[in-house]
Amino acid sequence: MDVVTIGESMAVFTPTSVGLMRQATTFTMRIGGAESNVAVGLARLGHRVGWISKVGSDEFGKAILSFLKGEGVDVSRVKMDGEAPTGIYFKEQRRLNDTRVYYYRKGSAASRLTPADLDEKYIAEAKYLHITGITPALSENCRDTVFAAMAMARRHGVKIVFDPNLRLKLWNEADRAKEVMLRMAAESDVVLPGEAEASFLFGKQSVEEWGSRLLDMGASLVVIKLGANGAHYFTNAHHEYVPGFPVERVIDPVGAGDGFAAGLLSGLLEGLRLTEAVQRANAVGALVTMVEGDADGMPERDDVERLINQRREDVT
Ligand code: ATP
Repeated sequence: MDVVTIGESMAVFTPTSVGLMRQATTFTMRIGGAESNVAVGLARLGHRVGWISKVGSDEFGKAILSFLKGEGVDVSRVKMDGEAPTGIYFKEQRRLNDTRVYYYRKGSAASRLTPADLDEKYIAEAKYLHITGITPALSENCRDTVFAAMAMARRHGVKIVFDPNLRLKLWNEADRAKEVMLRMAAESDVVLPGEAEASFLFGKQSVEEWGSRLLDMGASLVVIKLGANGAHYFTNAHHEYVPGFPVERVIDPVGAGDGFAAGLLSGLLEGLRLTEAVQRANAVGALVTMVEGDADGMPERDDVERLINQRREDVT
């Protein structure tokens, strides 16, 4: 595999109309979850990617597996749990530019992942291990599983890419979230926080200060996401701002950060210059916001190239 990722995927229910969810009468069902969104993004860009998880032995678990298989994601290391359900969540578009999520995932099959569910050889053979700050929030055993996977990756020289994906709703205490995420960042090679996450971890500082704090902790590449404005990247040798791609109307913002991670990983896998890899990440993030659904808007290679070339033509 080029990339192996670990996390929970859910059935996502969205009312078919904008407004308060209590008034909704019909819903669409799609599949979402940060890590499996990244997996779909990478597969659509032509990379080999595996997703490690647990799903319930129920209709939603089967829907997740068939969706991911259909997208070309390797699910051979996903287990089915007959005793716990697949998690679900609801995505309310309360009004334009106000999207909210409500989770029903406590005690889910994925929250029962343990280090014994990991196949060390599978992780050892990947080029990158992608992890997020969501998985350790699900349960203590999930936290142990993520740290065990990171230890396996390090033992075998597999690079670790960490996206904090702070979801305070999932943590009992904010201080605990901070402590665990700082530990994860310190053990990762590439760290991808958004501005709000960097501010949560280090307090209000300049982007440059956040970048150097994370480099000092041991990362070799730090990318700080600025939503519509794009991203800054930092290495020990270089710092650069890479502008985003303007989107006329955001249809669904969920999944932009995951698209960004998929685009960046794709660029790193292909040995692009960092500026170009971050540009690809920005392009994938922007394209994801133009489509309803968490993973549904992940673009194919042609879509990304078209957007980037359009920018070049506009500039020249
Ligand atoms: P998520 O809610 O998915 O976790 P995040 O906070 O990790 O998001 P954002 O900064 O919101 O990440 O978005 C990630 C990237 O997606 C941005 O750096 C940018 O490249 C792109 N992006 C997000 N929103 C927009 C937008 N409105 N217009 C253009 N590009 C966008």
